[in-house]
Amino acid sequence: MRKLILKAPYELEMTQAPIPEPGAGQVRIHVKKLGICGSDPTIYKGLHPYVTYPRVMGHEFSGVIDAVGANVDPARIGQRVTVIPHIVCGECDACRAEIYNFCEQLKCAGAEDDGAHCDYFCIDAKMALEIPDTMSLEAAAMVEPACVAYHGARRAGLKGGETVLIIGAGPIGVFCLQSVRALGAGHVYVADMDANRLALAQQLGATGVIDVSKEDLRERLCAFEGSEKKIDVFYDCVGEKGTVLNNILALARRGSRIVVIGVLQKVFNIPLLPDFVQHELNLFGTTMYVPQDYRDMIDLMGKGIIQTEPMVSHHCSFEELPKMLDDIVNRRIKTYKVIVDMND
Ligand SMILES: [Zn+2]
Ligand SMILES: [Zn+2]
Repeated sequence: MRKLILKAPYELEMTQAPIPEPGAGQVRIHVKKLGICGSDPTIYKGLHPYVTYPRVMGHEFSGVIDAVGANVDPARIGQRVTVIPHIVCGECDACRAEIYNFCEQLKCAGAEDDGAHCDYFCIDAKMALEIPDTMSLEAAAMVEPACVAYHGARRAGLKGGETVLIIGAGPIGVFCLQSVRALGAGHVYVADMDANRLALAQQLGATGVIDVSKEDLRERLCAFEGSEKKIDVFYDCVGEKGTVLNNILALARRGSRIVVIGVLQKVFNIPLLPDFVQHELNLFGTTMYVPQDYRDMIDLMGKGIIQTEPMVSHHCSFEELPKMLDDIVNRRIKTYKVIVDMND
């Protein structure tokens, strides 16, 4: 089978490898569709803190089960599945409670362990979840990033009708928008600096969008809601060096909740942190997802409540993937969500 190995930063090599046999408790997946994540360029460039080389990337994918190991129901062969790319100890309190993102031994396939940039991939059977006929394998490859956003969206404990502001309209921000809508939010505003991304947010259900490259966030919120102090929950889907979080602290009314889904870079600067204390704000961290998020997301996508198709900007073949990654990293191409057609 084909296997794409990142031998060192910027050095991808397409190799031939034997098709792996599923171990006890595992299923083997014939990989069909694969997504390129915002974190993949970071791994490619050698800037990901937990990645060692050589490494096989790829943690957003779907496929069809074509073999099972011992102790797995052979009836699963032929199932179309999406995959939780988690490798866990399976024995700790967190694992027993199915809170895999709290397992101290957690590794993510495609980052700390080898991922799905290959034709066949073996993983624990409980990490491969069947999708309904109403859902495409392409959508199934996007359940992973959707669940990053959905888990973050759930962290704030949204109550029906609450007013939300999402900062950042990349794939995570737009999945966050669709998630809070599905969870019953009222007015949902999205801010970004890119007009195309904001148009997509508008198309996928934003009450209003704010182009912060030319509009003032506070003024626009006043225009929409009559006051800038109407936001119940903020989602930072950018992260960066704390700039976005600091801007949120400047806007937040007393008691509001803030979820940081974007990655906060190591050197951060949040001068308004004292306001966080004084205004009794609530800050929520979030990391990846749990299986219940996957089950909810499969249901929501299967019913068409959360959409993926308008988010796909590019397709490429597995052979074209190295060039695609290089083009993304060197900014020769502007993409939103890229789907790799692995085996059609
Ligand atoms: Zn990802
Ligand atoms: Zn564990």
